[in-house]
Amino acid sequence: MEYKISLIPGDGIGPEIVGEAKKILDKVCEKYGHKFNYEEVLLGGASIDACGVPLTQEAIDTAKSSDAVLMGSIGGDAKTSPWYQLEPSKRPEAGLLAIRKALNLFANLRPAYLYNELKGACPLKEEVIGDGFDMIIVRELTGGLYFGERKTVEENGVRKAIDTLTYDENEIRRIAVKAFEIAGKRKKKVTSVDKANVLDSSRLWRKVVEDVAADYPDITLEHMLVDNCAMQLVHNPGQFDVILTENMFGDILSDEASMVTGSIGMLSSASLNETKFGLYEPSHGSAPDIAGKGIANPIATILSAAMMLRFSLDLDKEADAVEAAVQQVLKEGYRTVDIMSEGMKQVGTKEMGDLIAERI
Ligand code: NAD
Repeated sequence: MEYKISLIPGDGIGPEIVGEAKKILDKVCEKYGHKFNYEEVLLGGASIDACGVPLTQEAIDTAKSSDAVLMGSIGGDAKTSPWYQLEPSKRPEAGLLAIRKALNLFANLRPAYLYNELKGACPLKEEVIGDGFDMIIVRELTGGLYFGERKTVEENGVRKAIDTLTYDENEIRRIAVKAFEIAGKRKKKVTSVDKANVLDSSRLWRKVVEDVAADYPDITLEHMLVDNCAMQLVHNPGQFDVILTENMFGDILSDEASMVTGSIGMLSSASLNETKFGLYEPSHGSAPDIAGKGIANPIATILSAAMMLRFSLDLDKEADAVEAAVQQVLKEGYRTVDIMSEGMKQVGTKEMGDLIAERI
């Protein structure tokens, strides 16, 4: 098959890690007979330097015309980079928010997977970890409290701030459909997280999720209150497959879930729209402190590329091969500096990419 992929190297370690992910995709093409046509897109600091703005219309058009976008990360050191002398709307991060909006990416996917080989990095006790965990958080990204009306007023000399949490049934339905579709490719369980004992928006959320569940009889649905979910993530993380939740709850829970894996350089993510299109990127930032040193861990970006194969291109077998190659390299004891432990073999960014590519 032939696909068009937009590549956003971005800033800091971005170009280094995207280079390794491309190496892996090239190997997938060679092995499975596909053709990926790449087009590079400028975003963030790189776009400010070249075009004076963090995102251009040309960049949006290129991204829109592709099957999927693979990104490194954007941004620099806020204390030293001249990008942060600019007004907030012209800084690197504004470009990222703008491209997410332009591409209508309403579903954010963050897997939290504990590799057996990296159990030592998990802050949970051995008996809690059990056989490990493998979950994915599906977070609604464009609605809820972060996008509702807000204002701060003064009434009788008392300052008062108001934020509004709104969801309509269409917004809930489309993210629920994504979660059930993803669960169908996994362990077939959806845990829908809400605060239905208090919030009207959560009660509607629950009803709509139940309606959607009726179309997926082979998938188990359970509901969980968000406070309980926060506890269960550190009490029994192995129980989860797909966690479906709204914007703010997802923001908090996805950070909690990623922390329990213990290794930031390993965490992939995806943001999808209503079609198969998505933007795939590591969960970490541009790590300006280690940029250009050749030591960044490329695995989060490589696993993001695997998610792209699975969710945007429907190349499940190829995605499995990439994930298995990552696992194999870890099993053989190769580690970048961020996940290094005693007795393991330390490698740099390029070497890690080569090792994974060789095992596909
Ligand atoms: P960061 O994730 O870039 O770095 C935090 C720490 O983790 C650093 O010590 C870094 O060296 C290390 N680290 C991160 N990724 C690594 C990797 N792949 N391999 C090895 N070590 C790694 O977070 P930060 O320092 O808070 O942010 C730096 C810049 O990144 C800021 O400009 C921030 O705005 C931006 N940022 C961008 C995104 C994005 O592009 N989506 C996300 C988060 C932060």
